[in-house]
Amino acid sequence: MVLVRSRRVVFPKGVEPATLEIRDGRIASIHPLDFAADAEVVDTGENYLLPGLIDAHVHINDPGRADWEGFRTATRAAAAGGYTTLVDMPLNNLPATTTVENFRRKQNAARGELSVDVGFWGGAVHDNTGDIQPLADAGVLGYKCFLVDPGIDGFTMVDRAQLEAAMPRIAKTGLVLLAHAELPGPIEQATAQLQAANCDWKRYSTYLASRPDQAEIDAIRLVIQLSRKYDCRVHIVHLATAQALPDLHAARAEGLPITVETCPHYLHFCAEEIADGSTLHKCAPPIRSRANRELLWQALISGDIDLIATDHSPCPPEMKTRGGGSFLEAWGGIASLQLALPIVWTEAAKRAIPITSIAHWMSEQPARLAGLDARKGRIQVGRDADFIVFDPDARQRVDPSVLEHRHAITPYAGEQLCGVVRTTFLRGDKVFDGGTFADPPKGAQCFRA
Ligand SMILES: [Zn+2]
Repeated sequence: MVLVRSRRVVFPKGVEPATLEIRDGRIASIHPLDFAADAEVVDTGENYLLPGLIDAHVHINDPGRADWEGFRTATRAAAAGGYTTLVDMPLNNLPATTTVENFRRKQNAARGELSVDVGFWGGAVHDNTGDIQPLADAGVLGYKCFLVDPGIDGFTMVDRAQLEAAMPRIAKTGLVLLAHAELPGPIEQATAQLQAANCDWKRYSTYLASRPDQAEIDAIRLVIQLSRKYDCRVHIVHLATAQALPDLHAARAEGLPITVETCPHYLHFCAEEIADGSTLHKCAPPIRSRANRELLWQALISGDIDLIATDHSPCPPEMKTRGGGSFLEAWGGIASLQLALPIVWTEAAKRAIPITSIAHWMSEQPARLAGLDARKGRIQVGRDADFIVFDPDARQRVDPSVLEHRHAITPYAGEQLCGVVRTTFLRGDKVFDGGTFADPPKGAQCFRA
């Protein structure tokens, strides 16, 4: 038994002093602050004790592209960033996680490498409807699909007919379908116009114009329509446009099983401040206007957006900078596992948002999305003893050289952020503590209860 004490434990309903009693990796009971017993006591003082964060959108490119990111590096970055559970996306690794055999290869690559717990999404691609039920039986937590070309070998988009073939099968599993919601039509049309006008692809405004809001809006309308038709749980990943929020609000008011995430980069950056040639900021959908960013924050606060996920999507530095600043040629994707909490907290503090909201968006709601909420997502008796010691007032200047990500490149370099993760507990064990990591690593693969 271990006792963990804090004057500021972040519970769903508020922040209170408490002492947590940890047994066998779980929270066995919750006592008043001054509770005493014959046991080791860890006193975390005035720091927040937050539930371990859960990132439902991470690209760990192993096997096949481990030189982009691997299980060891990603999960160390996660532990240092306050995440205790990741859910891995089915693409950018080779082979993609679209069959049970490929899923086993993914699981083998993860073995012995995990500093935090990791669950897995499967893929829904143009030709694997027969693999959907077997993947559920094998333990994936849901399925990811693309409504536009993902722009990478090994994973295909689905068109409307293919989506309609997959959805009833996914609905039958009871698992969720995650959709990259952009349709090709508006993107192709906008890109053709920009090419015809000989636009400069080093300008951020050109890239932004090439992936219009309408591509997201049309895709989301399609997904809403098919969720209704097949009674299929759907989750919109990385919502970038606030213009789709009215449709999503109406769909949810109607009772459709739809959830939505957005990402730290959409909540922090804005198009007006991205320098031309700064391809470190390239991601899809693109970072949009300052006014749009504020509407995304309002939607989080109102509950129209359920959660924040990183879409941690690394690649080798030369792919991010190829083309000498051309947004057409650079790889799209932003890696932020180790920085997401301080980024979001810095922005939240400017808007007087309480720490309980951070726990809700970055732990409780992602746990629910992935079906891990019987064990994770809250500081509550019976759940895993996953929590982090977070100093909300300490400041840090982002130094890429301290990142555990495989590649130390980030659009956040040099930024002053609020909040520092001091210690990360995974099932009662310290897996990160002031710059050092548990060795051997203590993470496990996780499945629905
Ligand atoms: Zn992604």
